[in-house]
Amino acid sequence: MAMETPREREIAAEDSIKVVCRFRPLNDSEEKAGSKFIVKFPSGGDENCISIGGKVYLFDKVFKPNATQDKVYNEAAKSIVTDVLAGYNGTIFAYGQTSSGKTHTMEGVIGDPNKQGIIPRIVNDIFNHIYGMEENLEFHIKVSYFEIYMDKIRDLLDVSKVNLSVHEDKNRVPFVKGATERFVSSPEEVFEVIEEGKSNRHIAVTNMNEHSSRSHSVFLINVKQENLENQKKLSGKLYLVDLAGSEKVSKTGAEGTVLDEAKNINKSLSALGNVISALADGNKTHIPYRDSKLTRILQESLGGNARTTIIICCSPASFNESETKSTLDFGKRAKTIKNVVCVNEELTAEEWKRRYEREKEKVARWKGKADKLEAELSRWRQGETVRPEEQVSLLEGPADVTTPINVSIEGKLDDSPMPATPGGGLMMGSLSNEERQKLEEERERLYQQLDDKDEEINQQSQYVEKLKEQMDEQEELIASARRDYEQLQQEMNRIQQENESAKEEVKEVLQALEELAVNYDQKSQEVELKNKEQESMTEELLAKQVALNNTASELQQLRDMSAHQRKRIAEMLANFLKDLGEIGVAIGGESNENLKVAPPESNGKLEEEFTVARLFISKMKSEVKNLVQRCQGLESFQVDCNKKVSEYEKDLAECRLLISQHEARMQTLTESMKEAETRKRGLEEDVDALREECAKLKAAEQVQAVTNKEKAEEKEAATKMRVALEEQMDQLRDAHQKQVAALRDELSEKQELISELKDLNQKFTLAHQQMQADYERLKQEEANKSVKLQELMLLNERREQARKDLKGLEDTVAKELQTLHNLRKLFVQDLQARIKKTINAEDNEDDGGSLAQKQKISFLENNLDQLTKVHKQLVRDNADLRCELPKLEKRLRATMERVKALETALRDAKEGAMRDRKRYQYEVDRIKEAVRQKNLARRGPSAQIAKPIRAGQHHLSNVNAIRTGNRENECKNAFIDENKRIPAALMYNGYA
Ligand code: ADP
Ligand code: MG
Repeated sequence: MAMETPREREIAAEDSIKVVCRFRPLNDSEEKAGSKFIVKFPSGGDENCISIGGKVYLFDKVFKPNATQDKVYNEAAKSIVTDVLAGYNGTIFAYGQTSSGKTHTMEGVIGDPNKQGIIPRIVNDIFNHIYGMEENLEFHIKVSYFEIYMDKIRDLLDVSKVNLSVHEDKNRVPFVKGATERFVSSPEEVFEVIEEGKSNRHIAVTNMNEHSSRSHSVFLINVKQENLENQKKLSGKLYLVDLAGSEKVSKTGAEGTVLDEAKNINKSLSALGNVISALADGNKTHIPYRDSKLTRILQESLGGNARTTIIICCSPASFNESETKSTLDFGKRAKTIKNVVCVNEELTAEEWKRRYEREKEKVARWKGKADKLEAELSRWRQGETVRPEEQVSLLEGPADVTTPINVSIEGKLDDSPMPATPGGGLMMGSLSNEERQKLEEERERLYQQLDDKDEEINQQSQYVEKLKEQMDEQEELIASARRDYEQLQQEMNRIQQENESAKEEVKEVLQALEELAVNYDQKSQEVELKNKEQESMTEELLAKQVALNNTASELQQLRDMSAHQRKRIAEMLANFLKDLGEIGVAIGGESNENLKVAPPESNGKLEEEFTVARLFISKMKSEVKNLVQRCQGLESFQVDCNKKVSEYEKDLAECRLLISQHEARMQTLTESMKEAETRKRGLEEDVDALREECAKLKAAEQVQAVTNKEKAEEKEAATKMRVALEEQMDQLRDAHQKQVAALRDELSEKQELISELKDLNQKFTLAHQQMQADYERLKQEEANKSVKLQELMLLNERREQARKDLKGLEDTVAKELQTLHNLRKLFVQDLQARIKKTINAEDNEDDGGSLAQKQKISFLENNLDQLTKVHKQLVRDNADLRCELPKLEKRLRATMERVKALETALRDAKEGAMRDRKRYQYEVDRIKEAVRQKNLARRGPSAQIAKPIRAGQHHLSNVNAIRTGNRENECKNAFIDENKRIPAALMYNGYA
């Protein structure tokens, strides 16, 4: 872009790369390990040299461990801000071994005013500068953030871009093609972008420390400005690079795949070293920028158009001495590199025209000089000697020849320290302009092709990456499917084996079952028989049971009866004993102690009782004898008594007769008495009547006396008569009274007699009754006694019988004993005889037969034993088998089920495998299709929306600026580069 003109050549000045060196303090682990601080800083104001082990290194600036971030920024990086804003390119990169402070220096702690590093300070400064600049300037700031790991560029703002390629723009300046560019309008936005990039970086890797020490992180700030008044456009690119650790691989102990990684890391770093060495050498014509992506990106920064500052980060520890030295050597070499810096200005059409004219003149001048030189050369070749005056001065500029020639707009390339065409400058001289142009074109074309190829490679590698990922996935899928399949196969084998074994088992089980079935049939037949038997038995048993029940009830009855009887007997016995006792008492008169002592209720102990009874009985016997005697006596006495009774009865009859007589007499007497009474009554009635008559007469007499005095005579007569009558009456009364008294006396006598007789009679009746009762009682008693006697006799008889039986038994026992004794004797004799025999036989040794027999017997016995054992065993086995049978059946069933389940599982597994295969096939097809589609639909980069910021305004006001109208044009302008890049992509597509 920068076509150099004489005026610009003044601006484009040679500029050495600035190298500053920063030592960090000893860290904790170094201090712990006792590492020494080996770096010496010169005393005094000199701050640009150090010495290690006597070797002195000179840099643009040396920062001591205590140097603050602010100091480092101000003295090493600050100037780059103004450069970038003035249209220069700038680069700051930190070089050094791991943990020497590169990240600390570049990034620090973003947001911390003291600890923040160069990047955040630069960002803040850029914006602050812009805010302080003229108002007619409009800025467009874009940032990109990517890392280089294993020589692959990974976009940290778009994780899908894992392998970006480096292209050259129209000015042959390499740039990372396709890297995400974010337009930013404030420092905060930049920090957000940085944060985003860092977090993406963290996500992608497992060990961040290791990763960051092996990858280069590149933060690119692209500043474009336009003067809205004169349309002057400036642009500046600022690369801020935190390089990978510069230490040797051996020190980090990388192995295996990591070693591969380390080689790649070292590749880019060693390429950097090579580039720097080649540049430092000065004589080298070829600079191997293309050896790595890092060097390609930094191509412009190393020996190109950029203000570059390298910050050498070192550890002061003795432990790191060699690394520190090599780092310092790297810095020393880099310090010699010269860059050619110029302002990147986009020129207007008029400016271009002017420059074109100027260039034309210049070319014409050069052409003239070249012609002169060619003429001189031909003269020299012809053997002429050209005089010094005639010689063309090589030091002079071109003569003022104004022959127009073709203009190359690649002025910069001519000044480049890297002659791009093979053959060098000397060859150029012999080439014609046309040839040169052709060659240039050829080279251009080739580079273009190279870039295209690069791009293609990038695309392809990205696809390859994606495909690889997909392949990995697929492989994993396949592997898992295979694993599954293998597992399933194994499972199937196992299942089949199981199945086989199960089948065998089943067969065995079936055999066993058959056997068992046969056995079972036999057994069932047996069982049937047994059942029948059992049934009959049960019937019998039932009958027996019934009988038994009957018997039992009978027994119970009998028992009850016997108990009752016993009770009764006991009672009876007790009564009997009591009676006996009583009898004894009655009989004996004097009290018999034994009899009295005998407790009638102690029937618990029969024997005692019996002894007592026996005693009683013996007593009784004698008593009975006595009784019998007495009975006899009594009988005779009774006979006598009877006689007497009969006599008495007779008397009684007589008495009765007498009584009846008396009663009859009494009756007559009472009758006579009654008669007398009636007579008396009658007499009394007569008396009464007479009295009445008397009274009547008296009354009449009186009347007559009163009335009839004359009748005195009569009266006298009457009186006389009456006296006579009265006398008569008195006599009669006396007689009558006498008679009544006598009768009354007689009556009372008779009455007395009657009562006496009555008494007597009563007495007799009573006596009779008494006698009768006594008689009855005695009769009863006698009957009782005779019964008892009979019972006793019976008992006695029984006892006698028992005694006899016992005797018989004793006899039999004695006989048995005798026979036993005899037998024993016989046995002993036999034994003795046998022993003798055996001894004899042994002596004679002719007992082969008996021995054989014995053996045979023992053998047979053994056999029998064994047979019985076997029989028992068989019986037991049979029982066991019967127990086992249901279990086995169950097992068989379970096995069948398992077999079925396994078969279904197998089927499922096969189906699953088929499905997996289909899915896999489908996936592969899909991927193929996708790849094809992508190959077809390759497109150029898409447009982005610019966020222009205007100088002299605070960034917040930019929002307004965006809204103020002709934004679209500005945006378009901002994308001129992008749009100009498109044809290359299109060409690529056509090429593809
Ligand atoms: P590198 O990026 O080179 O691997 P770091 O920047 O991560 O190393 O630094 C390693 C450690 O040393 C960090 O913890 C950092 O804070 C510390 N450190 C580095 N330089 C300095 C310094 N100048 N002053 C204080 N601490 C430092
Ligand atoms: Mg680091």
